[in-house]
Amino acid sequence: MKTNVLIHGGGIGGLTVALKLAKCGIDVCVAEQLKGPSHSYKGELLQPKSLDIFHRMGIFGRVQRISHKINHIDVIEMITEQNDVKKIGQTKMSYDVIDYPFNYAFMTPHEELKDVLLKEAQAYPSFHYLQPARFQGFHKNGARLKMANGEIDIQADFYIGAEGRKSKTREEMNVNRKEHTYDHHFLTVTFPRPPSMTEGKIISTPDTFLGLFPLPNNMVRTVYLIPSGEYKNIRQKEISFLHQKYIELCPELDGYVTQLTDWKLIQLMIPVHFHADQYVKDNIAILGDAAHSVHPMAGEGMNLAIQDGDVLGELLCWMYKHNLTDHSYLTWYEKVRKPRTKEILKISHLSALAYSKPFKSFTTVRYRVMKQMTTDSKLHTKQMLNISGLGLWKENIVDRFIQIGLFPPRKNTKLATKGNHYFFHTADDYPWKIKGVNTHD
Ligand SMILES: Cc1cc2nc3c(=O)[nH]c(=O)nc-3n(C[C@H](O)[C@H](O)[C@H](O)COP(=O)(O)OP(=O)(O)OC[C@H]3O[C@@H](n4cnc5c(N)ncnc54)[C@H](O)[C@@H]3O)c2cc1C
Repeated sequence: MKTNVLIHGGGIGGLTVALKLAKCGIDVCVAEQLKGPSHSYKGELLQPKSLDIFHRMGIFGRVQRISHKINHIDVIEMITEQNDVKKIGQTKMSYDVIDYPFNYAFMTPHEELKDVLLKEAQAYPSFHYLQPARFQGFHKNGARLKMANGEIDIQADFYIGAEGRKSKTREEMNVNRKEHTYDHHFLTVTFPRPPSMTEGKIISTPDTFLGLFPLPNNMVRTVYLIPSGEYKNIRQKEISFLHQKYIELCPELDGYVTQLTDWKLIQLMIPVHFHADQYVKDNIAILGDAAHSVHPMAGEGMNLAIQDGDVLGELLCWMYKHNLTDHSYLTWYEKVRKPRTKEILKISHLSALAYSKPFKSFTTVRYRVMKQMTTDSKLHTKQMLNISGLGLWKENIVDRFIQIGLFPPRKNTKLATKGNHYFFHTADDYPWKIKGVNTHD
């Protein structure tokens, strides 16, 4: 069997690039190992850049219909005093400081989003979906897939590894990466929410962290930090232990979290941080979690996969359109995506450290930093722009001094980011289109 592009893995990243290619009329085949929808929790927060990408792909309306809009995230800092949890302060991270049409986020059920991408792609005759089909490695006749009734080899012009963290394609490419693990893990679960809980909420104490992100249909996705290695011990307790922990931090969850009656509903999430030192080798590329894994604190994993898929899809469409199928052009993808991902990995890693030993007891310092960051309009804009994926505005030494309280926050600085060079424009996202066909630089 032959195709133009074979994608190993039908997750969000693989389906995004597949849909882009199908829309260009390129013959594309996705091989997904699972028989049906996955029951594992995965990323569900769509950052503004992903919404912008879906808008340009013509599926924004369909995504909107299955999503809950998030305008801001309340960040609440608490301390424990004589067995009582007491609030010491609250700040607000608002997307609307970004001067852009998509200055909000969506919470979107992961499997439903995959379904939107898949159904849309299936409307194009050049799209093919093999399921279950597991990529096993490269052989002289191309990629070998294990299917329900045996093995097949598929020959393609290009191969894309989109299999997530444990990528077989990355292994076959012999790509190096250093993996960093954390001293904490997360319990994650979705359950009904009070109707008044409509925005994101992060509640932290010196010992833990509870993230609450509302989903459609009055549900809420939650993540609760536990020390690494504690999962087995915790699971031996009654489920009421978890109810109590949640209610202590967020009393309005009483009557909601208590609807969870079995530990089986709750999953363990182990954060991992790595960045492959190469995204491309010959006619093979990796994207999403296959290329990088990010701590979930900043809600970026799924967004990085979508943004990779957008850039790689756009590049391949351009290559086929201009008959430039020499694989050396693929390096454009790595040039655009790797430095941006590096910044996001750094932001997520630093946020994660704030909740790791030995920093976790600095509750008041963490609160002051957050307060300075959200009161200073420039810092607030930088923070939200950077996590949105719409642009990059690096922090400088003055910002650091303001963050730690050495300088006062800058108030009333009207910061119009519209049209300025901190946003990524076409020339940044797809530079090959501007620089022309005769250059790789
Ligand atoms: C357990 C878990 C929980 C997470 N929770 C969060 C969260 O709360 N918030 C957040 O922001 N991010 C979270 N993430 C990260 C986020 O979900 C990922 O960054 C995002 O899904 C990456 O998309 P992807 O398409 O690169 O990979 P994936 O979503 O992992 O998709 C890869 C696909 O490839 C398939 N596959 C794997 N191997 C093969 C093979 N050999 N052949 C064929 N198919 C194959 C898999 O079955 C899967 O469908 C989580 C990740 C994991 C693993």
